[in-house]
Amino acid sequence: MFTINENYLQLNESYLFSTIAKKINEFTLSNPETDIIRLGIGDVTLPLPPSVVDALHKSVDEMGRKETFRGYGPEQGYGFLREKIAEIDFQKRGISVSADEIFVSDGSKSDTGNILDILGEQNSVALADPVYPVYQDTNVMRLGADNRLILLPCTAENNFLPQLPTEKIDIIYLCYPDNPTGTVMTKPQLKQWVDYALENRSLILFDAAYEAFITEDDIPRSIFEIEGAEQCAIEFRSFSKNAGFTGLRCSYAVVPKSLKTHTADGREVSLHGLWNRRQSTKFNGTPYIVQRAAEAVYSPEGQNEIREMVDYYMQNAAIIRSALLSKGWPVFGGVNSPYVWFKCPGTDNSWRFFDRLLHECHIVGTPGVGFGAYGEGYFRLSAFNSLEKTREAVRRIERWEV
Ligand code: PLP
Repeated sequence: MFTINENYLQLNESYLFSTIAKKINEFTLSNPETDIIRLGIGDVTLPLPPSVVDALHKSVDEMGRKETFRGYGPEQGYGFLREKIAEIDFQKRGISVSADEIFVSDGSKSDTGNILDILGEQNSVALADPVYPVYQDTNVMRLGADNRLILLPCTAENNFLPQLPTEKIDIIYLCYPDNPTGTVMTKPQLKQWVDYALENRSLILFDAAYEAFITEDDIPRSIFEIEGAEQCAIEFRSFSKNAGFTGLRCSYAVVPKSLKTHTADGREVSLHGLWNRRQSTKFNGTPYIVQRAAEAVYSPEGQNEIREMVDYYMQNAAIIRSALLSKGWPVFGGVNSPYVWFKCPGTDNSWRFFDRLLHECHIVGTPGVGFGAYGEGYFRLSAFNSLEKTREAVRRIERWEV
């Protein structure tokens, strides 16, 4: 008889978004005329920027001609894209990352999950709580629920930023700007983590999927702005949120060549080499047309277009944030992030607040407890809807007597 990976049976039932869908369904069945505004989603709503669409058309035509057709590409990504990424996302900002340290992929969700393939099973792993659920679930899939996952509580008292662990941790996931809390770390704060990692020979898995939403100058956009990070960190970036690629799929990971560790018998190994081996074996590359589309993001027009998209969402974030603040509710995020995180007024139960917001304001958000136990009593609203809907949602909240 064949067996299965029973760790999958130990995963928490993923009921967050299915429960939300069920509750919306029930509500619309009995209130079919009601205009529900969805601020729960982490998906973008604006269409792809024109230069991206142009690049897609052109590259599709290339694929249809004998002379320009392309089959399998390099598993690490085409040079034309890796070079643009290195130049514009890093070198132009004074960060030393070279094109061959960049691995183009089909999403940060897959990258942050797949990275575990090259890491040992004995590692202790730390995660923030609340957290983007993929980090936790992929660890449970690999090692089971009783693996060495250490949850770092994020609360209003610590501004939803985890404290440095008191014990020695091998692998630490950090996500800034954060999903779900929208919080960011300053350079000195992030430096503390890099110093901790260097001292304890830990690895930081830094998810910068929301980097483009940073508006404040002193907030690091890459962990590699911090000295020494190239010896202790891998960074994940995505085109999903900054350029509307959630349906197109493109991302990249930066695995510095100077990131090394030792085998049990004392040999030095480079994670760059291991990830290269992993990707060339299990991944056949991001589609050519998608990489051409991502390349277009770096053209001067593309850069302007994505800036406009991000600004549009950030205007929504500012509108939501200021409305909640004027209600007197404790609010986090929304300044360098498309997510606004706040304390549910009048209850410590995120789901109870979800129900009231749906039934009384006809607005859908995401209950904080869905991201971890420390999210209980909090709530996430997303800025990824239209300006009109966001304004209408805010009007409803302003008039609402909670
Ligand atoms: N990382 C974080 C923190 C996210 O919130 C998301 C998507 O919501 C992702 C990664 C996934 O990005 P991608 O679309 O590139 O898989």
